[in-house]
Amino acid sequence: MKTLLIILTIIISETIMPQNYDFEQNLYQSYDRYKEKSLTHRRFKHSDITSLIKKLKSKDGFTVKVVGKSVEGRELNLISIGLGKKKVFLWSQMHGDEPTATAALFDIFNFISDSANKKFCSALFGKVTLYFLPMVNPDGAERFKRRNYYDIDLNRDASRLQCPEAVILKTVFDSLKAEFGFNLHDQSHRYSVGNSFRTATISFLAPAYNYEKDLNDVRGKAVQLIGNMFQVLSQFIPGHIAKYSDEYEPRAFGDNFQKWGTSTILIESGGWKDDPEKQFIRKINFIALLSAFKSIAEESYSNASTEIYESIPFNDKYIFDVILRNLTSKSGKEKIKIDIGINLDEFEGPNEKKIYYRSQVDDLGDLSTFYAYKDCDFNGYEVERASVYQDKIFSLKELEDYDFNKLYSKGFSTILAKKLPEEKFTRLPINFALKNRIDTTVNIGEAANFILKKDGKVQYIVINGFLQKVEKNRKFEGNGLVIK
Ligand SMILES: [Zn+2]
Repeated sequence: MKTLLIILTIIISETIMPQNYDFEQNLYQSYDRYKEKSLTHRRFKHSDITSLIKKLKSKDGFTVKVVGKSVEGRELNLISIGLGKKKVFLWSQMHGDEPTATAALFDIFNFISDSANKKFCSALFGKVTLYFLPMVNPDGAERFKRRNYYDIDLNRDASRLQCPEAVILKTVFDSLKAEFGFNLHDQSHRYSVGNSFRTATISFLAPAYNYEKDLNDVRGKAVQLIGNMFQVLSQFIPGHIAKYSDEYEPRAFGDNFQKWGTSTILIESGGWKDDPEKQFIRKINFIALLSAFKSIAEESYSNASTEIYESIPFNDKYIFDVILRNLTSKSGKEKIKIDIGINLDEFEGPNEKKIYYRSQVDDLGDLSTFYAYKDCDFNGYEVERASVYQDKIFSLKELEDYDFNKLYSKGFSTILAKKLPEEKFTRLPINFALKNRIDTTVNIGEAANFILKKDGKVQYIVINGFLQKVEKNRKFEGNGLVIK
C-alpha cells in the first residue's frame, strides 16, 4: 500500500509539477564560458564580426556563404549548421543600433563549437538546420543608427524592396522557406511591462499577418513557441517579459514572413537596471534562442497553451531614467509638491566606446504611477533652478583640481569659459557656456540642472540630469554639457 502511494505521488507530481529547466539553468550558470569576449559593448562594427565569421569557416559543421553586399559594399554572410529537416532562420540588426542579439548569436556559435555540448548538438542537428544572417544593416551599425545608408528603415522595405539589404533578406527567406523565423531587435529601455513598475527586458511578438490579427497554424506555432520561451525566461527575469504591439504592418518583414508561411517570432531586447550595455540581456537572448531550438527539435512547443501568450502584458511607457520625487517647488509665495521625470539620451563621443548623455525634463507633477531606473525620494527638499556663475571666466587649466562644491553650494551648475572644450560634452562635473544665455529653470523640454536644498542649504545638485551630493571628493558619474 505504502509503495503504491509513493508511486502514485510520483506520477501525480510529475504531471502537475512545473517543467524541468535543467538545460536552461545550466546555460545560465555556464554562460561565461561561451560569451564571445571580443564583443564587449553595443557599438561593435561589421569589421568586428567579419573576423569572427572568418574563424567559423574552419569550424566543424559550419557553412558560411556571402549572400550579398550592403549599399556601401559590406558583405552579408549566411551561416548555417545542421542536417535536420526543420529549418530555422534567424536574422539580426536590420536596425543598425540594435546589436544585442547579434552579440548573442556569436555566443551561440561558441556554444555549438564547444566539445562539451557535442551530445546535445548532435541530437539537435539531427532534427534542425539553423541559418543565421547576423547584422542585416552593417552600414547603419557603422554609424550606430537605425536606418541604412539611404536613410531607409529596412523594416518598412519588405514589400517595395528598394534597398540591397532588404533584397538579400527576402532572397534568403525565399530560398529557405524555413519552418521558424526569428526577427531579432532592440527596443527602448524605457518600455515597461504594462503599467507595472518593471522594465520590459524582453518583449515577444508573433506578428500578425492581416489587419484582423487572425490566428492560423503558422502564427499559432509562433504563439506556442513564445509560450515556451516565456516560461523559460520567467525563471531568470520574472515579471520583465512583455508583448510588442501587435498591429499589422504590411511593410514589415516579420508580418510578411508570417504571411508567407514561416512561423515568425519577434524578440526585442529592452532594458535592465544597471545594464546600459545590455550584456545581461544578451545572455538572456542566448538562453531564449538555444531553448527555442531545443523546443523546435523536440516539438515540445506544441504542448504550450496559447493562453500563455495571451496573458503576456503589452509594452507600455511608464519608465523614466530618473525620477526625483516629492520635491517642494516655490513660485513667489506659493509652494507646490512636484515629482520631476528626467530622461537621458545617449550620444557617441569621438571615441566611440564612450557614451555621453543629454538630459531632458520630460514630465513634472504627480509621477506616482511611473517608475525610474534611478528613483529618489526627496521629501522635505526644495528644488530651485541652478544658475550660471558669472563673476569669473575660467580657463580649462584651472579646473583640473577645482573644488566644484564651492560653486554647487551657491547654486551654480554652469560656468563661463574663455575657450570651450571641443566636444559637446564634458566629463567634468559642471556645464560650460560662453555667455549667460542658458535657461536653467525646471521646465519641461529643458536640460535638468537644479539644486536641492534642505534647511536653507544646498545638499544636492543636478548637473545635466546627474544627481550629485554636495560633499568633498564626491565622484561624478555623469557628464556635463558644453553649450555653444
Ligand atoms: Zn528594430
